[in-house]
Amino acid sequence: MTGTIGSTVLGYPRIGPDRELKRALEKYWSAETGEADLRDVARTLRVDSWHALHDAGLDSVPGNTFSYYDQVLDTAVTVDAVPHRYRKLGLNPLDTYFAMARGVESTPPLEMTKWFDTNYHYLVPEIGPDTAFSLADRTPVEQFREAAELGITTRPVLVGPLTFLLLSKPDDDAPNGFRPLDRLDDLVDVYAALLAELRRAGAEWVQLDEPAFAADRTQAELDALRETYRRLGGLSERPKLLVAGYFGDLGDGLEVLASSPVDGVAVDLVTGPATVGALPTLTGLQDKTLVAGLVDGRNIWRTDLDKALATAAKLLGSAGELAVGTSCSLLHVPYDVEPEDIDPQVKSWLAFAIQKVREVVTLGRALREGRDVVATDLGAARAAIADRATADRVRDSEVRSRVAALRPEDSRRADYPVRRDAQAAALALPPLPTTTIGSFPQTTDVRRARAELRRGSIDEAAYRLRMREEIERVIRLQEDLGLDVLVHGEPERGDMVQYFSEYLEGFVSTRHGWVQSYGSRCVRPPILFGDVSRPAAMTVDWTTYAQGLTSKPVKGMLTGPVTILAWSFVRDDQPLGDTARQVALAIRDEVCDLEATGIGVVQVDEPALRELLPLRAAQQQQYLDWAVESFRLATAGVADATQIHTHLCYSEFGDVIDAIVALDADVTSIEAARSRMEVLGDLSDVGYAKGVGPGVYDIHSPRVPESAEITDLLRAALQAVPAERLWVNPDCGLKTRGYTEVEHALRNMLGATTRARAAL
Ligand code: GLN
Ligand code: ZN
Repeated sequence: MTGTIGSTVLGYPRIGPDRELKRALEKYWSAETGEADLRDVARTLRVDSWHALHDAGLDSVPGNTFSYYDQVLDTAVTVDAVPHRYRKLGLNPLDTYFAMARGVESTPPLEMTKWFDTNYHYLVPEIGPDTAFSLADRTPVEQFREAAELGITTRPVLVGPLTFLLLSKPDDDAPNGFRPLDRLDDLVDVYAALLAELRRAGAEWVQLDEPAFAADRTQAELDALRETYRRLGGLSERPKLLVAGYFGDLGDGLEVLASSPVDGVAVDLVTGPATVGALPTLTGLQDKTLVAGLVDGRNIWRTDLDKALATAAKLLGSAGELAVGTSCSLLHVPYDVEPEDIDPQVKSWLAFAIQKVREVVTLGRALREGRDVVATDLGAARAAIADRATADRVRDSEVRSRVAALRPEDSRRADYPVRRDAQAAALALPPLPTTTIGSFPQTTDVRRARAELRRGSIDEAAYRLRMREEIERVIRLQEDLGLDVLVHGEPERGDMVQYFSEYLEGFVSTRHGWVQSYGSRCVRPPILFGDVSRPAAMTVDWTTYAQGLTSKPVKGMLTGPVTILAWSFVRDDQPLGDTARQVALAIRDEVCDLEATGIGVVQVDEPALRELLPLRAAQQQQYLDWAVESFRLATAGVADATQIHTHLCYSEFGDVIDAIVALDADVTSIEAARSRMEVLGDLSDVGYAKGVGPGVYDIHSPRVPESAEITDLLRAALQAVPAERLWVNPDCGLKTRGYTEVEHALRNMLGATTRARAAL
């Protein structure tokens, strides 16, 4: 089958089925083990993946999908885009790589940001006019050879040159107006050299990922895409080139790629179903392979194989070869559903990475050899799909009628001045009120208690006692520090979404379903399979216990509907906005219960508001409409005197700034320390005139800010916001920090506040 792709996946998880890489990395970083041990674990993980994919029957196995941290960082190192500040540390190559990823004492890491609209984070390369691109690292070639020695011919996967530069930022030396894309020609030279080496090593195909073209792009960027693949396609010594675009419709980029001299194009037909209509009309695909991304690489549902085959049938004849693939890399789903101990009915609806590989194989065989050869697999899939579509537990008529009965006024509160006055009277806070974002450091003791409860070595009652002790400690500390609005500290929450999903109907949790978020950090997103409701209060006990310990107001802490969706695997059988409304009602019930027990301040966190923003501008408004609506629905059930806070984790609001205003929270806390309060100007530009708490203490680093620094930040903030509306708080939750530094930093924050108050 040389020359064709047949069936394939665009990428595979790499953290290890049991998070082996995470553990190996942490041991290496803490100098418990050496480089050789880490490399051994990495090699075993690669070998296991190649075997799993090969043995499952894929015709084309992706290679170079392993990474010690991040594939964008790998690419930067491969092309020698290593900023000088890391080179001059004089570390060996592996430690230089980790210094870029994690920083060292003297040098902070590269900036990290979200990979398109996923919860995976990549490191942002820094490119300048003087970046000396060269083929400095040959990992893709070495890994190709490693697999070849096992008898497996892989298709190395590389981040494409356009996507790499579009995701990069100008380095510190770059003059104004410089764009990383200005360096495309030089970078493409390095790709050409790499492709030649891969060819010489025996690679038949290489995959170049260009998901940047699933977002809106300028004509100049589309021209650059055309020119780049004209050049790469024209090379005399190269493997066949498969260009993969995913996370949406490639739009005009599709026509550009179809008419370029590459050998294959992979499209995402799950997120970009409109592509199905566009493909048969394209010229230039006749001599190419089309990899139809029919199996969802980002979600965990079993594929409707009949439907996928019907889609494939529409594409027959559009391309030289019609191959089957996943919509994107399987990096975004867990390894294997088999070891999960979830309700058997729900489990039968699920497919994790290895199950998806088998689906791709089945589809490939059905297309090539006819449906009869895979009739059993098709039948099993059909039964599971039908069962899920008709299952009682997916639909809850009470939830549905409640949503259907919603009226516009259910998401509207009184005008802000009315609320402001009522809240001022009820809370009687000083000017520049101080608070925190919710979590306090999660001590080893707290984590141990949770692990013991899970293992069954302590019972629920003992666990509650331990949490209450922690809450009491956190309350006493806050009183001692002199904070105005206290929190209970969230010790009972391992994760701000997982925690709520365990109380809500309509969700199941996994035990091993880890997905890489960044580097060694993994998350275990819950699975939202059915209509959502809240059978009982989720946080009221903890919050009222905390409130009972103090005369200061204690703020109730909840996760907002958009963030719950963003960090879960969501159902794909109804629009996301419908699911959001159901989650919003469950949160609304909790907000109202908190209020009913005397909690006067409730914070509903929406750190993921921006993450779910669609990549294409044309789809953004519709998203923002339901996102804002669901937050308002969750929070509008309270009296005027109850103060609603929200928290957002970033300072570059860009396209969501109007939405933040529209959330209509009484107080919004945001990240601002690193951007030196710039965000306040942005907010007042769009007419935000409610309470705002720009973070004055960067919790992303262990550094304790001096009181004087915080005073400066407060002074800057007071330039943009009148004292009546300004809150004083850290940037984000304190969960990942240690108590010593947190206490010290909060003391400095309160000292600075006292001085600022005196100067008012
Ligand atoms: N309340 C949460 C905490 O403090 C908020 C976390 C977040 O913004 N990601 O941990
Ligand atoms: Zn945050």
